[in-house]
Amino acid sequence: MEGLAEERLISAVGSIANGRKAFDITRTYVMDRKLFGRPLAEQQNTQFRMAEMDAEIDLVQVYVDHCVAEHNAGRLTSNMGVKAKMMSSEVEWKMLDLGVQLRGGAGYMDEYPISRMFTDARVNRILAGSSEVMRLIIGRDVFSEHYKSILD
Ligand SMILES: Cc1cc2nc3c(=O)[nH]c(=O)nc-3n(C[C@H](O)[C@H](O)[C@H](O)COP(=O)(O)OP(=O)(O)OC[C@H]3O[C@@H](n4cnc5c(N)ncnc54)[C@H](O)[C@@H]3O)c2cc1C
Repeated sequence: MEGLAEERLISAVGSIANGRKAFDITRTYVMDRKLFGRPLAEQQNTQFRMAEMDAEIDLVQVYVDHCVAEHNAGRLTSNMGVKAKMMSSEVEWKMLDLGVQLRGGAGYMDEYPISRMFTDARVNRILAGSSEVMRLIIGRDVFSEHYKSILD
């Protein structure tokens, strides 16, 4: 129990790095892949979805970096580890799902790294406390005054 915040932060660091890696290899893929003579990267859907992921990964990365700095200063709280773990694994998953989707049938085949990354990342929303349990913990904190008033 004493090391849970750190365990979740380690998980968050891995997830967000993996999300960025998935973004990078997907960006390369959509620039190479041509449909009816035009790169997939030129489709507005591809640009919108990738733009959204670029922003989300960046924002979560900043929070994870902040948590690492707080950990180094001895100030990491349980709640911070929970938020970092939940958001990084959710954004990682969203990026990997998009990476598979943009590759079409090729993304589903184990021969392609994105497929294996997709399978491997699935567990990150379960281990070290599932996303549902992360929400439960954050929710308790959000409504802590309410519960305190009931107990008082
Ligand atoms: C690869 C891997 C490595 C692991 N390593 C370790 C380890 O080193 N040490 C260790 O102690 N554990 C480890 N675990 C266990 C891990 O922490 C648990 O799998 C995880 O906490 C989920 O618990 P569970 O598997 O018992 O699922 P359950 O608790 O049975 O959950 C089933 C589902 O119910 C949901 N759920 C549970 N409670 C609630 C609730 N109150 N409200 C809403 N939904 C809820 C869950 O989110 C999940 O979707 C590991 C798990 C995996 C898969």
